[in-house]
Order: sequence, then C-alpha cells, then structure tokens
Amino acid sequence: MKREWDLLHTPGPSPVPPSVERSMNQPMIGHRGGKCKELMNDIAPRLKPIFGTSGEVLVVTGSGTSALESSVVNITQPGDEVIVVVAGAFGDRFAQICETYELEVNRIDVPWGEAVEVDQIEAALQERPHTKAVFLTHCETSTGVMHPVEKAAKRVKATSSALVVVDGVSSIGGAGVDMDQSGIDILVSGSQKAMMLPPGLAFVAVGDQVWNVIDDNPRPRFYLDLRSYRKQLEGGQTPFTPALSLLFGLQQVLDLLEEEGLDHVFDRHQVMKEMTREACRALNLPLLVTDEAASSTVTSIRPDTFEAEQLRKLANEEFGLILAGGQKHLKGEIFRIGHMGYSRPSNVLQYIGIIEIILKRLGHDFEQGAGVAAAQEAYLKRTREE
Ligand SMILES: *Cc1c(COP(=O)(O)O)cnc(C)c1O
Repeated sequence: MKREWDLLHTPGPSPVPPSVERSMNQPMIGHRGGKCKELMNDIAPRLKPIFGTSGEVLVVTGSGTSALESSVVNITQPGDEVIVVVAGAFGDRFAQICETYELEVNRIDVPWGEAVEVDQIEAALQERPHTKAVFLTHCETSTGVMHPVEKAAKRVKATSSALVVVDGVSSIGGAGVDMDQSGIDILVSGSQKAMMLPPGLAFVAVGDQVWNVIDDNPRPRFYLDLRSYRKQLEGGQTPFTPALSLLFGLQQVLDLLEEEGLDHVFDRHQVMKEMTREACRALNLPLLVTDEAASSTVTSIRPDTFEAEQLRKLANEEFGLILAGGQKHLKGEIFRIGHMGYSRPSNVLQYIGIIEIILKRLGHDFEQGAGVAAAQEAYLKRTREE
C-alpha cells in the first residue's frame, strides 16, 4: 500500500519538497543540446558555496558511494598508505573501498557514538609519515556523530603533506563545511540526504590543488575518472548521460537554498537538533551521542526500557512515521531520527508528539506532553535569542 501521508524521517532518503518534485517532472531534453548546457552552467557555480569551495563541484550520476569511490580511485595507487577514521558504518565503508583498491589501510577505530579526536589523527600520521590521504566522515549517519572535520583537516595540513578527503553525504546542504578554509581536498556528497532530492546524484568537490595529483595518477579508471567530468564541465556537459530529471530538481533545490539563505538553513538544522535532543531528555530517552559530538542532521536514541524496533514498528503502523533503526552491532539497540533537508521545526513538534503516544503504548515512564513542551521551549529559546 502506498501511503501518501507517511512521514519520512530516516537519515536518507529524505522527503523531497513539492516544488522540487514538480521541477523534476519536465519533458526530457537532449544531454548534448543547448538546454542541458544552460542547466549545467547554471548549476555548477551555485553548488560551490554549499561545499565552501571555489573549486569545481562535479556531478556524477550514481549513489553517494560512487562519490566515495571516485575520491579513492582518482588520488591513490595500489600500495599507497592511507588513514581512515572508522566510527561507524560509513567510515567502515570508506575503509572497505580503500581495501578493495589495494591500499594499505590504517584504520583509526573510534567507539561508535563518539567523535574522533584530532590528536588521534596527528598521532597516526606521525606513526605513518608516508600517508597519502586521510579519509574522514563528516556526519557518521549510523550513529549521529558530527566529526570535527575542519579542525582535523587543518591539523593534517599543519603536520603532514597528506590529502584530506571528507564524506559529507549526510551533512552537505544541512551543515556548513568550509572546504577551502580548512584545507579539505575532496568533499563528497549525495542527493538524497540534506540535498532534498531523490537518490541518484553524487557530488565531488575537488580543491584546485588536488588536480595535479589526479592528473598524474596512473591508476586505470573510466566511469569515475574525474578528469573527464572536469573536462566536460568546461563545455557545460557531463561525460555520460546525466540523470537529467534530478538535475532539473537540483536547480530548484538551489533556488530554495538561496532563497532561505545558507546560514539560515544551517541554523534551522541546529534548531531541529536542539529541539529533538531536549525533547528526548524530557522523555527519559537516552541519547547515544553527547551534545558536543551530536550531528545537526540525525539523532540516535538508545532506549533502555523498551525495544527500539518495537517503537519503530508502532510509529510506522499507527502514524506512518518512519524512523531508522541501528546498523551493524547497533541493530536493535538504537533508533535514529533524520531531521535534514526538507524538514523543519514544525516536523519536530509533529514527530515528538507521535513518539510520545507510542511511548505511552510501550509503557515508558514519562510525563505526557513533556517532550513537546521541551521542544517548544528549545525553539522559543532560539528565537528569543535572535
Ligand atoms: C548515505 C551515506 C552514504 C552513501 O550511501 P549511498 O547509499 O551510496 O547513497 C555515504 N556516506 C554517508 C555518511 C551516508 O550517510
């Protein structure tokens, strides 16, 4: 059964604004014609501020993982030493990609739910001075931790010559990253998280200083060869047929982000995070992540008086509220709320109100209305400050 009233609050895919849906629903155009060129030439420069770079942001048709993989194949050769921070399922994926491409992978394992410390990265670099690149995850979606990637990149740059690659799939569009200022060399993202689009587009922002590494890299690659994307972009094109409907949608997403203003967009995510976390505290729901390490796009809760899966099931059945579960060893241990992209404080009030009803059904001990009141208070506090 397709239920149009479902409330999708998973950390990707996330809901798509109606105006973006309408924009995607346009007649097809030729991908080598003038209309497509106009579209690409409009989109390409407008993506740059979202990634905090003056470098090129390349658009690849593929899921977010294709952007991760492209960063690996374009800057490394077999046998290269790399450091990968693994603090959850997506850090682990980055490490797996690196292993697949025959790199010598030095994992920094961080307990799931915690953020990496910049000193750990520096220490690892000192142990392995030949490290070619450091791979980091900005928002580790599996736990809801936002890693200090800008600080980390600055430290890597200050103490080594390693490249810094950041997975921003579940943060870009919802949280600011100043790629150029912090020295991040490659920042990748995808369309279906905070970028308010369906799955299918991957973004690869490449710092100008990295192109010599990419150009000189002899590793064979074809679909994900960033050199062809850069070359084609000069003429407003892509090397292969792009997901044109998604590009139509992306143009509208850029309109929406610019209309609201990026700073406001990022603030809105902070407000949603604070509302959600304050509500959880008021509802006696243990948060997996500390305030300092918490992501502004996804919140993880580790319940101790009921089964996380039971709450997810009931919320879905009764209200169509769709939350995510845990991954790997956190499966069944946590549930995760996505508040990213096309999500607003009004949605937080709605899902907290629903969660309260489900908590009553589960016999959880709390004062009815306390969660909504705490979320309201967090919202009011923010807007009073403004
Ligand atoms: C969703 C996600 C990805 C990519 O997932 P795809 O399924 O390939 O789109 C990568 N990294 C993070 C942090 C993510 O949240």
